[in-house]
Formats: sequence, C-alpha cells, structure tokens
Amino acid sequence: MAPSDPTIDPPADAPVETTADPTSDPAASDRDTFADLGLRDDLLTELSRLGYEEPTPIQREAIPRLLAGVDLVGQAATGTGKTAAFALPILDGIHRDDAPIPTALIVVPTRELAVQVSEAMHNYGRSSKIRVLPIFGGQPIVKQLKELDRGVHVVVATPGRAIDHIRRGSLKLEGIRTVVLDEADEMLDMGFMEDIEAILDATPEDRQTVLFSATMPPRIAKIAETHQNDPETVRIRTTKAETANPRIRQTVYMVLRSHKASALGRILDIESPTSAIVFCKTRTDVDELTVTMNGRGYRAEALHGGMDQNQRDRVMARLRDGTAELLVATDVAARGLDVDTLTHVVNYDVPSAPESYVHRIGRVGRAGREGVAITIAEPKQRRLLSNIERLTKQTITVAKIPTVADLRAKQVDVTVAAVREALTADDLEDYYSVYNELKGEASDRDIALAALRMVHLARGATLDEREIPDASEWKDNKGKKGPKGKGRDRHDRGNDRPKGKRREPSGDTGYVHINLGRKVGVRPGDLVGAIANESGLSGADIGPIRISDHYAVVGVPEGNVEDVIRSMRATSVRGKKAKVRRYVE
Ligand code: AMP
Repeated sequence: MAPSDPTIDPPADAPVETTADPTSDPAASDRDTFADLGLRDDLLTELSRLGYEEPTPIQREAIPRLLAGVDLVGQAATGTGKTAAFALPILDGIHRDDAPIPTALIVVPTRELAVQVSEAMHNYGRSSKIRVLPIFGGQPIVKQLKELDRGVHVVVATPGRAIDHIRRGSLKLEGIRTVVLDEADEMLDMGFMEDIEAILDATPEDRQTVLFSATMPPRIAKIAETHQNDPETVRIRTTKAETANPRIRQTVYMVLRSHKASALGRILDIESPTSAIVFCKTRTDVDELTVTMNGRGYRAEALHGGMDQNQRDRVMARLRDGTAELLVATDVAARGLDVDTLTHVVNYDVPSAPESYVHRIGRVGRAGREGVAITIAEPKQRRLLSNIERLTKQTITVAKIPTVADLRAKQVDVTVAAVREALTADDLEDYYSVYNELKGEASDRDIALAALRMVHLARGATLDEREIPDASEWKDNKGKKGPKGKGRDRHDRGNDRPKGKRREPSGDTGYVHINLGRKVGVRPGDLVGAIANESGLSGADIGPIRISDHYAVVGVPEGNVEDVIRSMRATSVRGKKAKVRRYVE
C-alpha cells in the first residue's frame, strides 16, 4: 500500500507537525536511524542492545528538536514510544562523570508511570551510569530523602511528592535544565494543575519545558502558553484515510501483558494458519517469542535487522516452502517482504503509528485472497486502536480470547476431520492385521477410542488447561492499578481494571473521612491524587470533596469505599500520615 500524504515542510513560524508514517515524510527520510537523530554512541549501543531497530515517528520528530534545546509540545499516546522520545535527549546531556545533581525533572501522574519511566531511563542510560530516581506518594519518604541526599541525575516524580520534596529542600532545583510533564492531560484530570504550576514556578526560568499529552484540551494549551518558551508542536497526525483491504478480517484480542504469549498460542491453535507473520517491536521480543512459539510446537523462525542477508534468505526460503509456518519479525526486517502463502498477520504489539498497521496487514489478502489480521493489545492501548480505526475507517472487531473449551472443541473438529478423511482411504484393509491382533482384548469401542486418542495427541492436541484472562471488558484507565494478585505481573503497568469497578453515572456514592485538612495544607488535588494512586480509581470517579480545617470528606463509588480505606493505609498526604475511615452523613 502506497504511503499517503507527503508532508510539506511547514513554514518556519508554523507549528511543526509530523505524520504518523515515517515513510511519507520526506523531511524524516534522513532520520531513519537513531544515529541520524544525533544521539551519543553509548546510547545507540544501549538501544541496539534493547533491540530497538529504528525510531518511532514521535521519536524521529521530537529527539532532534529536544537535543537542539527547544521547548516542545508532543501529542502522543501510550505505545507510541513517547518515553524514549523525551528520555533519550535528556540522557544525551548527562555524562558519566557529571556530579549527581538533578538536571531533569519528569513529572508523571501515577507511581506506576514513575517507576516505568525510571526503569526505561535507567536502561537507556545504563552504560553511562546515569542515576534516575522515582519519587511518589505512598513510598516511605525517608528512603527517598536518603537517595536524594546521595545524589541523582534525573528525578521522575508524581506531582504531590515532588512538591513535598521541594518544600523540604530535599529536591534541589537549581541545576534543573529540563522539566517534562508526561501524560499532562491525565495529570490535569486528576486535579494536579496547581501542583504542576507550583513545580514549574519553582524551577529555573531558563529551563527547557517539554509537555507530552495524548489529548490537547485547552487547559494544556494554557500551560504551554504560560510556561513554555516558543514551543514547537509535534503530533502524530493521521491525515489521509488509508483504507485497509476489506477482504482482510481484522480482529483484536485484549489481554494483560503477562498473558500475551499464551494468548497468541491459543489464538493460533484455533486459527490454524497455513503461514503467518507475527510482528514484534524489538529484536529481543522477536527472539524471545520465536523460542516460546517453538516450545508450543510451532515451526517458528525469527527475522530481524540483526541478521545478515544469508540468514534472512534462508528464513524466507523456509517460510516459502512451508518448512516454517510462523515468521516472527520486526517491521524493519519485514519491509518489502512478499509471501504468497501468507494467510495471517499478527500484531503482537499494537504498532506505534496507524499507517504501520495498514502496511503490516497489507501482507495478506493480496490478489483477491482472503486474509486475517490479528492484533494482541493491552487495555491501555485502546487509544492507539481507535486511531487506527479512524484512519482506516474500518472497525476492528474485539474478540474474546478462546477458552479451554473452545480449544478442545477445535481439537475435536480437527481429529474428526482427519478420521473422516482416513475413512475414505482405499487402503483401510491394510490395517486389518493390527485390528485382528487386538480384537477380543477389548471391546471394539475401546480399541477405536485408543486409536483416536493416539491420533488426537499426535495431531498436537495439547492439554492446555489454563484459562487466559480476557481483558476486553476492562477499562483503559491510564496509570491506575488493576486487580491485585491473580492475573497480574510486575510488568503490568497497573492501569487495567475491570469495568465493573467503575462507577456508573447513576451509581451510589460512599464517603471516606480523612484526618487531614486545610491546617496541614491539604488541597483537593492532593486527595484525588493520593486516592487515585493508591486505589486505582480514576480522577473522574472521585468527588465530591469537602475540606475543613482538620479533616476532609471525599466521595468515592460506594462499592470502592473499603478498597480505598485499605489501600490508603500506609499513605501520606502532604507529608502527613493519613487515617482513613468510612464516613456516614
Ligand atoms: P511508550 O509509548 O513510551 O509507553 O513505549 C511503548 C513501548 O515501545 C515500550 O515498551 C518501549 O520499550 C517500546 N519502544 C519505544 N521505542 C521503541 C523503538 N524505537 N523500537 C522498538 N520499541 C520501542
């Protein structure tokens, strides 16, 4: 499919926009690799170690601008690679022997995001020993004070805790050169506007200010206008509708990250593709998934940019002649690839740009054939999926992860079909001697069942007994906690929550009493932030809020009252330990 909408270089004074499709942006053609963006060698090495093959569109546009020191407004959702877009330029400005004083402050809405951004920066800056510290409410402040005292280069903080440390003097701001507001719309929704303004006011005026947000409501524009200096705007623009081939059946399955591999296996077991290509984001993911799928009995081959031409040719030959049935690949490696026999395309990750989705799934459904496009997504990636639907003007059907019963039924179908076919064979009599040996040892029925068992198992009918939790009913609740315990792993950002936990507009409101009020400086944003962070509710679920001198009363969905009380047990608000109990009017 030809890329659309060649971008015109904007006039010098116009806000800069990017298209989501790197191949359609002539200005971006000399920014194909991370090295083209002007990043330091040690960072390039780390990126390649992490298996990143090329920059995503937002990285392509944001990184050179941030390296040049301009202020930036970036419109990008989770999954577009926005973290690296602001993290890499910051790390580029910090050197191995630099004194550990904070030069960058990244403000994020939730502790999960604070930890995630810190981990990413730590990984990218590993070889230059850059010290990154997440600070957020709920964690003992003493530990954070100690770390800040030892010295760090970058601080990633939630707004309330950042203010706490600024007031205590433990977070030194004199050296801050860059402030990033990540997921700014989310922070505003959670009531952090005042805190953000206070943080910006407290940092050096000549700092670089970077604002990332998935949406651009007027309040965000207001922050940009007040606190940024001539900012450039970079946004993933989805301009011209590129429609995907209507012969392609498009389906998305929603699961938590920890279940993606088993979900892929289950889906492929049901779909039984003749040959499929599975797209992953990084080389590392490609290698890992190839091993996993081979372990599940698929003949899978890896294809990525780290392989030389000979290796690639061999892999392609194996796919073409049917020796391999799955090709696990990065976008870069699969560019231009054309295989007639492909029946399925799988997006193991939602692509970071909608146009890549169209390009990826365009590998099937060629020459009038039918094709299947399967996407495995995490609930937090719904926004990326909506962008894709808007661009393609097509709906991607959300399907439920097949259950164990579905799998069994499919396996029975396959065995039945195989036996039916065998029944038509004209050499059945050749096997009479085998039957004759067994006759009389057991009933004919049992002999038939034993033979069927062998066929069934030989056809790879595994005893895959685990149900895979389906997350299609879960709300995309950015940065919030999901259910605890079962079904979660430490990688889940914790922003997935069953729909049932949300308060419907007509739902009952219960109240919690918090023993802290105006006297200790508590403001609505502190309470919304603390409750949202600790309990997993979204800002919109919390309220009304009444703050008196010595206490506050906050409305939360009635069904969540106990949860909120439990989760706030070890929490501090404005540096004071909060005691929370149910409040009955
Ligand atoms: P983010 O949008 O920052 O939440 O990033 C989404 C995911 O994409 C993270 O798992 C990153 O590790 C990954 N990622 C970011 N940039 C790239 C890239 N250029 N190539 C491959 N993966 C990336």
